[in-house]
Amino acid sequence: MLDKSLKNIAPLIDPFGRAISYLRVSLTDRCDFRCVYCMSENMTFLPKSDVLSLEEIETLCTSFINLGTRKIRLTGGEPLVRKNVLNLIKALGSKMGHGLDELTLTTNGSQLSRFSDQLYDYGVRRVNVSIDTLKPELFKKITRWGDLDKVLGGLKSATKAGLKCKINAVALKGVNEDELGNMIEWAHKEGHDFTVIETMPMGEITEDRTDQYLPLSMVRAKLKEKYTLTASEYKTGGPARYVKIEETGGRLGFITPLTHNFCESCNRVRLTCTGMLYMCLGQDDSADLRKELLQGKTGLELENAIREAISRKPKGHDFEISRRSNAPAVKRHMSVTGG
Ligand code: SAM
Ligand code: SF4
Repeated sequence: MLDKSLKNIAPLIDPFGRAISYLRVSLTDRCDFRCVYCMSENMTFLPKSDVLSLEEIETLCTSFINLGTRKIRLTGGEPLVRKNVLNLIKALGSKMGHGLDELTLTTNGSQLSRFSDQLYDYGVRRVNVSIDTLKPELFKKITRWGDLDKVLGGLKSATKAGLKCKINAVALKGVNEDELGNMIEWAHKEGHDFTVIETMPMGEITEDRTDQYLPLSMVRAKLKEKYTLTASEYKTGGPARYVKIEETGGRLGFITPLTHNFCESCNRVRLTCTGMLYMCLGQDDSADLRKELLQGKTGLELENAIREAISRKPKGHDFEISRRSNAPAVKRHMSVTGG
């Protein structure tokens, strides 16, 4: 039973004094898209037996909430292609106001037409929807298997259901870089915040990362030629740094792990779909929480394993995309760790 006093529980503090109040959970490494910067077209997925059950994920999330986690983001792979995912969302949604302040998702939007109403009913209020281009053919090229119309339909359903949607786009050199201004104007007109993300060197892919990498300092400089960017104090508890675009009145976020490292204010840890807890997206140190579950640990014992892991959270990552090496900084794909 969850104690009502959890409302005031203090989050765990890591060795660098950072309060860890945000858990990102990859529900599956599988996806119905094959985005070029995320995975190769013939990606090999994990055997289902390696993946945590939804009940195991719920148990682990509950332990985190007992330890002061206030925000949970479900991601993947594509979280909404996980079978029976709504059962988990309903269970976690019931913890809103009982320790949990926010339950949210990052999704490619392909399933939002089906699920938006229930997501809202179960307590989700905001979702991040990843859209890298508004050109249907380019969308197909980037996602390989995606259909832009379906995603835009999903976005409409989500908005209609009452979900606040933020659009995330990865900045890709020579691919969508000239379109970002138009996309921002479109998003703001539709009432959505917009965030641009730098590509991160995670997992083997077919393409050359140095070809894809576009520093956001360049994106910002180009946008400044056309728009007035005013610094904003707005925060969502995530890594994005925001500006207001005066011409549209909307917000634009920058996630810049490479040009500006955001580790000093990191408040999160990540649980993979196999039960590995990564204390940093860009480092290999982890704790095997599935092993703890398989050993029958629950309650305090499980919480102690989580405490021990957080006491090892490193100061920061060492991502770098260099001309000399195309090897990923970390071998696991974003889809396994959860983007
Ligand atoms: N499938 C969902 C989606 O696309 O929104 C959730 C998982 S996806 C891994 C989460 C976010 O990570 C997406 O916005 C995606 O564009 C981004 N992403 C994936 N691989 C990336 C990489 N190597 N560098 C930067 N962002 C990446
Ligand atoms: Fe799937 Fe998201 Fe990766 Fe694209 S970025 S392949 S939608 S997990």
